[in-house]
Amino acid sequence: MKIKVNKNFENIKETYLFSEIASRVKKYQQENPDKKIIRMGIGDVTLPLPKIVVDALRGASAEMGVKETFRGYPPEYGYDFLKEAISEHYKQIGVNIPSASVYVSDGAKSDLGNIVDILGDNEIVIPDPVYPVYVDSNLMSGHKITLIEGNIDNGFLPLPDQIAHEVEGAVIYLCSPNNPTGAVYSHEGLKAWVDYALKTGSMIIYDSAYEAFVVEDVPHTIYEIEGADQCAIEICSFSKFAGFTGVRCGWTVIPAGLEADGIKISKLWSRRQATKFNGVSYPVQRAAESALSTEGKEACAANIAYYRKNASMLAVLLKSKDIKFTGGVNSPYIWLQCPKGMSSWEFFDFLLNEAQIVGTPGEGFGKSGEGFFRLTAFGTNEATKEACERLDKLL
Ligand code: PLP
Repeated sequence: MKIKVNKNFENIKETYLFSEIASRVKKYQQENPDKKIIRMGIGDVTLPLPKIVVDALRGASAEMGVKETFRGYPPEYGYDFLKEAISEHYKQIGVNIPSASVYVSDGAKSDLGNIVDILGDNEIVIPDPVYPVYVDSNLMSGHKITLIEGNIDNGFLPLPDQIAHEVEGAVIYLCSPNNPTGAVYSHEGLKAWVDYALKTGSMIIYDSAYEAFVVEDVPHTIYEIEGADQCAIEICSFSKFAGFTGVRCGWTVIPAGLEADGIKISKLWSRRQATKFNGVSYPVQRAAESALSTEGKEACAANIAYYRKNASMLAVLLKSKDIKFTGGVNSPYIWLQCPKGMSSWEFFDFLLNEAQIVGTPGEGFGKSGEGFFRLTAFGTNEATKEACERLDKLL
């Protein structure tokens, strides 16, 4: 063919991470068929949906089968009942987000990937290590990316003073609680970013997909920080909060005051969504609404408490071994420094061969992840307990 393709895709690193993990695990299992492997690499939830959510899905599906209550295309930005429930959720965590600023979607990943459609060729600032979607979606658009290093010294929470050059009008990605490091910005840390964005005319894209894991006095949302409504959009998800990884629902908040080049960001996003997206199905939106009800939140919190128990078992074990780590409190992730100076992949092989535990090598999340390793709390309590016993003997 003589068409031109988007050559920027050649700049994207092959996503060998999870396929490489799978092939090493497969080989080990074939050579050692009687060994029981414990998988702590997945970032997917494992507990089933709360009953109230399943009832809402069933009820709304049944409505779709009745002439009087059947619904066709949903509104592109979400049904009012869900936008209002999300607005109410923000009210409960102490901030005022009008429902008109909420855009419902089929998940945070779509919004994080699609947001580049409405932005021009800005400098992109991203902490490293990182959830790969921010980097890859910007590489696809040919944008220049500045990575700022997370490390033991800054607790994997880089701050703007680490950016050595002068910045004007950058797009800054922040994720807190963070995947993969489990680290969470304090109010002061986040304020430093908001102040920096306001000073440099930059915009923050704040990924709060793990907000529901927050238990300490750290921000649930960037809008707890004064001035954030002048410089930040927030992208959140029902995936980790309500177990919707397979159901698919999320949302983006675009405050009415956000404006660049004399154009409202909300107007651009409305246009983008109305052109390329046809909304989230009615049963899914009813299910999401039910997860935000008082009873729904209680059921979701019980599931999160279950995962948190796993995280704290791992944290106790690592502390007893003097292994440095971040996360595990306001997050389902534990991010540890590989012992004895091992590289991420050396430690992966060591854990697989000696303890039959599978985690994720930190190097897969960016250069600054080398020498680190991610364990997740999304397994069962029993498997995590057994993993801790094996780690206790091994480390
Ligand atoms: N943001 C972060 C930081 C994630 O880790 C994930 C999924 O693992 C997502 C977004 C994607 O969320 P969703 O399932 O809503 O697409």
